[in-house]
Amino acid sequence: MSKLYFSYAAMNAGKSTVLLQASYNYEERGMHSLLFTSALYAETEAGRITSRIGISADAQLYGETDDLYVWINREHRKGKIDCVFVDEAQFLTRQQVWQLARVADRLGIPVLCYGLRTDFRGELFPGSAELLAIADTLREIRTICHCGSKATMVVRRAPDGRAITRGDQVSIEKSMYVSLCRSHWEEETGRWPVASTLKAKPAAPARKKSAVKKAKPARRSPAQSRRASR
Ligand SMILES: [Zn+2]
Repeated sequence: MSKLYFSYAAMNAGKSTVLLQASYNYEERGMHSLLFTSALYAETEAGRITSRIGISADAQLYGETDDLYVWINREHRKGKIDCVFVDEAQFLTRQQVWQLARVADRLGIPVLCYGLRTDFRGELFPGSAELLAIADTLREIRTICHCGSKATMVVRRAPDGRAITRGDQVSIEKSMYVSLCRSHWEEETGRWPVASTLKAKPAAPARKKSAVKKAKPARRSPAQSRRASR
């Protein structure tokens, strides 16, 4: 059975480098891989996956209206494809993720997707959300924050260095994005310290606390859950 893989990371973790290395390994064994990247990145040098360390390869550009199952099936009939690689997979639509799942399931071709997990607002990209939901294998490509902790978040900075917390999800100027650990991301985006934690006796959160208490008895204890599942 062929699988749908999702390798996710924050910005500048070397996703494209990992993709190109894996594709190279296939080609080296005489196998044929088909590479895709988002048309959103296409500028003058269209249809190429380029890594920051200087290696690159030709790639097909996919747009949001392309049916990737139909496309890959057509190419597969022309000449056997052993593996499909998709860069910038966060920009896939949910439907396209299912099309890629069918490539793995129906055509028997493994599909390896690489992309960002969340945007600069800390929210999942649609493509990443669907991949996290249905991919067979999830892999994290790690990178680190300036503090040395694992960076899982991306902050978008204005030219003056200030963090931008609102705006279009699909803005792709790489230089404006920095990967941070969650705690530094919350500080830089102004979410921490939370205003209520600065006050000695906050009035509003006290109400919330009692609401949580009331809700608790409704939850099942582990023993109850075990009994219920029998
Ligand atoms: Zn940090």
